[in-house]
Amino acid sequence: MNQHILIVEDEEKLASLLGDYLKQAGFESSRLEDGLAVLPFVRQRMPDLILLDLMLPGRDGLEICKEIRGFSEVPIIMITARVEEIDRLLGLELGADDYICKPFSPREVVARVKSVLRRTGEHQAPVTGGLSLDPERYQALLHGQDLELTAVEFKLLHFLFQNPGRIYSRTQLMDRIYSDQRIVSDRTIDSHIKKLRKKLSAVAPDQELIHSIYGVGYKFEAP
Ligand code: CA
Repeated sequence: MNQHILIVEDEEKLASLLGDYLKQAGFESSRLEDGLAVLPFVRQRMPDLILLDLMLPGRDGLEICKEIRGFSEVPIIMITARVEEIDRLLGLELGADDYICKPFSPREVVARVKSVLRRTGEHQAPVTGGLSLDPERYQALLHGQDLELTAVEFKLLHFLFQNPGRIYSRTQLMDRIYSDQRIVSDRTIDSHIKKLRKKLSAVAPDQELIHSIYGVGYKFEAP
């Protein structure tokens, strides 16, 4: 089955041009022009990648991107009209996988789509470090041994595990773990991570799966 790209763009000509190029490259594509339609579509159809324009009627691309990241790791390429904006977007830690500035050549967009899909696809190739996770039961096994994690520890591990190699700040982790937005401090995440690592190393003392990046945050990486 062809990979399905969602184009969220209100400029009709541009969107249909992108659609044509993607089709030539062997992708299937859908198009939405209203920001309000994006989330329902993504939840229902689960596209393989989203090209997301920043300026949209209905809702802006920033909010949409953040909200998608609340439930999905689908690759997102943000499209902006101003190159200066990319710096600001990076600073917001939206979790987008790439940024493209208008005007662009459709050929370039197709190349970036392919490269993001390749990169994120590699991440999905499981380098598990002997870990197996069952999100329904909140159960984590390391080399067959139950780690007996708390719900928060499980969520942290599961989230990092799904995005190996990617570094997350404490704030990003808090946003993912505490859906009710209550106030928790950075230290809370640190202490959960600390306990989690202790449980991991009790089973496999020589194996480091959760790495802390000094001053930045944490990532999952299996050797
Ligand atoms: Ca636009």
